[in-house]
Amino acid sequence: MADASSQPDFVIIGGGPAGYGAALTAATAGSSVVVIDAGGLGGTCLQRGCIPAKYFLEAASVFHGAQQASRFGISVGEPTIDFAITQAGKSELVSSIATGLGKLLKLRGVNVISGIGQLQADKSVIATTADGVSVFHPKFVILATGSRPRALAALPVDQERVVDSDGFLNLTELPQRAIVVGAGAIGCEFASMLSDLGVAVHLVEGEGRILAGCDADVAKVVHRSFTKRGIAITTGVSVTERTLGETIVSVALSNGASIDADLVVVAVGRVPVGDVAAPSVTVDRVPSGGIVTNGQQQTSIEDVYAVGDLVAGRPQLAHVGFAEAQVAVGHALGSPLPEVNIDGVPWAIYCRPEVAFVGLTEEQAVARGEKVVVKREPLGGNSRAQIIGETEGLVKVICRANADGSAGAIIGVHLVGPWATEQLGHGELAVNLGLCVDAVASFLQPHPSLTEHYGETLLSLAGRGMHVK
Ligand SMILES: Cc1cc2nc3c(=O)[nH]c(=O)nc-3n(C[C@H](O)[C@H](O)[C@H](O)COP(=O)(O)OP(=O)(O)OC[C@H]3O[C@@H](n4cnc5c(N)ncnc54)[C@H](O)[C@@H]3O)c2cc1C
Repeated sequence: MADASSQPDFVIIGGGPAGYGAALTAATAGSSVVVIDAGGLGGTCLQRGCIPAKYFLEAASVFHGAQQASRFGISVGEPTIDFAITQAGKSELVSSIATGLGKLLKLRGVNVISGIGQLQADKSVIATTADGVSVFHPKFVILATGSRPRALAALPVDQERVVDSDGFLNLTELPQRAIVVGAGAIGCEFASMLSDLGVAVHLVEGEGRILAGCDADVAKVVHRSFTKRGIAITTGVSVTERTLGETIVSVALSNGASIDADLVVVAVGRVPVGDVAAPSVTVDRVPSGGIVTNGQQQTSIEDVYAVGDLVAGRPQLAHVGFAEAQVAVGHALGSPLPEVNIDGVPWAIYCRPEVAFVGLTEEQAVARGEKVVVKREPLGGNSRAQIIGETEGLVKVICRANADGSAGAIIGVHLVGPWATEQLGHGELAVNLGLCVDAVASFLQPHPSLTEHYGETLLSLAGRGMHVK
């Protein structure tokens, strides 16, 4: 066995947000760190998730903006798109951010190894690279191997005509007709982007409504907007079969219908990449392979932590991975942080109209036995929204009811509309600090701004509404 003094404090398996977040946190605290990553620094988020998807959505937004330009007297002609250029631009950006991340890790003294890491029963970690095998005996191991797209047996992916999110984000050509299977965050982002770029889209969902994880009123606004733009939506059905023709794909649904398209996109969630440990290692897991941790991210093995999408029962979001990484490293180094509060996690969905929320939905609050006061205000009257020309939207605030029936602590804030994802900060503070309507309703919001609508909604809840009663 190697001399303990030459061994790193931390070995982290996986270089996505959770893994590299842990590496930066530990290295900044003065620890020696090795990161073993198999799929490119930045993980799913940078290589085939958040960043590429938002790049595509930005292209769609520019296209849509160009179509609206004549409203301001600007002539740009009918926009067209060369999607190969969009794809090249996305790849260049991803590669530039990955290079920057590599430099940052190097600057902090983190040793990044490109290869596959595997935890052993004696808590050592084997790294297998193109050059051979290394064995580490660190003080702490952090498992951060993330997730991969969930497969559907009835809809096998060939990454050509039937793609998952990995294949979708590598497209160099747009189809004329697409079926998007799965109307969660990723499916709705893809459907919105395709539709804005002129593709005829059919969105298919197994649940009774789109965006099943969102507040029902929020989902309704998005559903209405999508339908108005010509996106066909079928909910409450499953895919039973797919048939590949010469150029088209036919998808059979459980309601007996069949839909044809040039491209099918499967976006039905993600499963943990759980094969991070040798078969001899016993670590508590759930049936899906997700690793069980406590609030300090400790697994059932001492000094072995798990963070990010790999962890069972947590929201699969990059910022949750970052936060869990800080908690794990803090615990390992004897400076524990409070556990990540899942009820206070901000959510953002970048479709058009955008969705952002924090805290409980109305259904969740009622199911928990809360007596609530709810205010929902459509965005239509907001002057900034009218200037932008995007008035589809809603602010919905859910408060715990005081004994006299007035609105008390803010327990849920739900926004739909332009730039909703950039406006959630006020609501996030209120929900996480348990602030009451009275305490925050008097804070000024700049005029004219989209956030005014949230401010007006709070004023109204406090009984002092001006534009909003
Ligand atoms: C299309 C799409 C859009 C998304 N949009 C958003 C968004 O807008 N906002 C948001 O917060 N989240 C978004 N997500 C989710 C986000 O990407 C994930 O929550 C996040 O990447 C999880 O981080 P992670 O570090 O846990 O895992 P990952 O990012 O999956 O990284 C894990 C890394 O570990 C590597 N690895 C796996 N096994 C091994 C092994 N044995 N040895 C070495 N390395 C290994 C993988 O190759 C990968 O590089 C999106 C996801 C997708 C697919």
